[in-house]
Amino acid sequence: MDQQSEHQFAIRLMEHLVVPTFVLDPQGTVIIWNKACERLSGVSADEVLGTQDHWKAFYDGPRVCLADLVLQSKLDEIQELYAESALQCDTYDGVRAENWCIMPRAAKRLYLAINCGPIFDDDGNVIAVVETLRDMTEQKRAEQALQSLANKDGLTGLANRRSFDMKLEADLLHAVREQESLSLLLCDVDHFKQYNDTYGHQKGDECLKEVAQALEKQALRANDLAARYGGEEFAMIIPSSGPDGALRVAERLKETVFDLNLEHRGSCTTDRVTMSVGAVSLFPNPETQAGGLIAMADQALYQAKQMGRNRVCIYEAP
Ligand code: GH3
Ligand code: MG
Ligand code: MG
Repeated sequence: MDQQSEHQFAIRLMEHLVVPTFVLDPQGTVIIWNKACERLSGVSADEVLGTQDHWKAFYDGPRVCLADLVLQSKLDEIQELYAESALQCDTYDGVRAENWCIMPRAAKRLYLAINCGPIFDDDGNVIAVVETLRDMTEQKRAEQALQSLANKDGLTGLANRRSFDMKLEADLLHAVREQESLSLLLCDVDHFKQYNDTYGHQKGDECLKEVAQALEKQALRANDLAARYGGEEFAMIIPSSGPDGALRVAERLKETVFDLNLEHRGSCTTDRVTMSVGAVSLFPNPETQAGGLIAMADQALYQAKQMGRNRVCIYEAP
């Protein structure tokens, strides 16, 4: 093969490679946009060759792609621009990142695994950057579905008991380490057995869903967690919050459920669904156990029930 046909062969190889691939020259201009890349993105080579518009295959506004970051040696920006990322062990091997992409032309959101690496000439100068793409949408969706099964309650969609337990352990450790307070609320729907008896179990399920949604909306800070503790019992973990904050949130939760105004003829508290809340707030020490914290909140909840329900009580150390 002479040099000319070798060159043509190399181009043809890239164009027909089954892996979606594009190549930028050192100025960031697209010099190769292969057929698999056209199929994946819905953007034709004619449209992007000779331009710096490769972003339009993936996003609905101009933004840098992984190849641009590699070209501009801005690897420190990868973490904030991509859902997942990793530098290969050797920077010569390039970088790997994953992202949800809007894919405006293909008109479907795709989760792409992206590999990108520089190509050097004999003197070690970067002469191009190659980006290859892999559609991981199905795997990502399956992974998300599994995660949701493992961490979410099937009926209400709230965090389940397992994630509640894990988060409480983690928040407890954090609070001890940072010498911060931690608050926990246990909520229990009043006379719920009677609700089922009056309206049937299915209506009961609907009621729990509505209560759960209302509670989730009140988990205002990113670190708060609303969870289904079990049956008609819900919990909320409120990190870095003292007794005043805990009581404020607890009152709001109780009021929110009251304001749903769900009829409950069988209740001997009022004519609607209500909820009692037990709160505990403390500065944990290394001996404090998650189970102990739950027992304190449960004791306060018991007191709220004893005092007539539809109310909040906070645990007072004896
Ligand atoms: P209290 O005011 O003292 O809390 O009375 P209660 O009737 O709510 O308490 P109890 O613990 O006696 O009853 C809880 C009821 O919650 C009984 C159970 O059938 C019902 N329950 C638990 N989980 C579910 C569920 O997922 N769906 C429905 N519909 N009912 C549930
Ligand atoms: Mg109960
Ligand atoms: Mg109850």
